[in-house]
Amino acid sequence: MSKICKAITKSGKSCRMLPLKSDVYCYIHSNKTVEEKKISLRNGGKRKVYICTDFPEVKLKSVSQINKFIVLMINKILKNEMDLRIGTGINYLLMTLIKSIELSEIEQRLNQIEKKLIN
Ligand SMILES: [Zn+2]
Repeated sequence: MSKICKAITKSGKSCRMLPLKSDVYCYIHSNKTVEEKKISLRNGGKRKVYICTDFPEVKLKSVSQINKFIVLMINKILKNEMDLRIGTGINYLLMTLIKSIELSEIEQRLNQIEKKLIN
């Protein structure tokens, strides 16, 4: 499988989207998605959300790891390798995760202070 779609766009440039897992073309240019695209057009022309297929697995255990992940995601979105709507959804989850990490750190600190006060 090639890293980018083999299609040439109307402007004569190579398509920069990621190909589907089972194709050398992206969702837009693949013949395998013709039926889906027809259905999509019937539903008011809403385009199917394309999913980034080669996103590296990243550990998200600390705020700094999450920051790296966000930067990676922003770059993917700007290079049109990831749908903005997916990025928005993931961003919401990341904010929840950051809040959870922060609360867990505060809880740990409180526990340490309590131990010192009791002893
Ligand atoms: Zn393409």
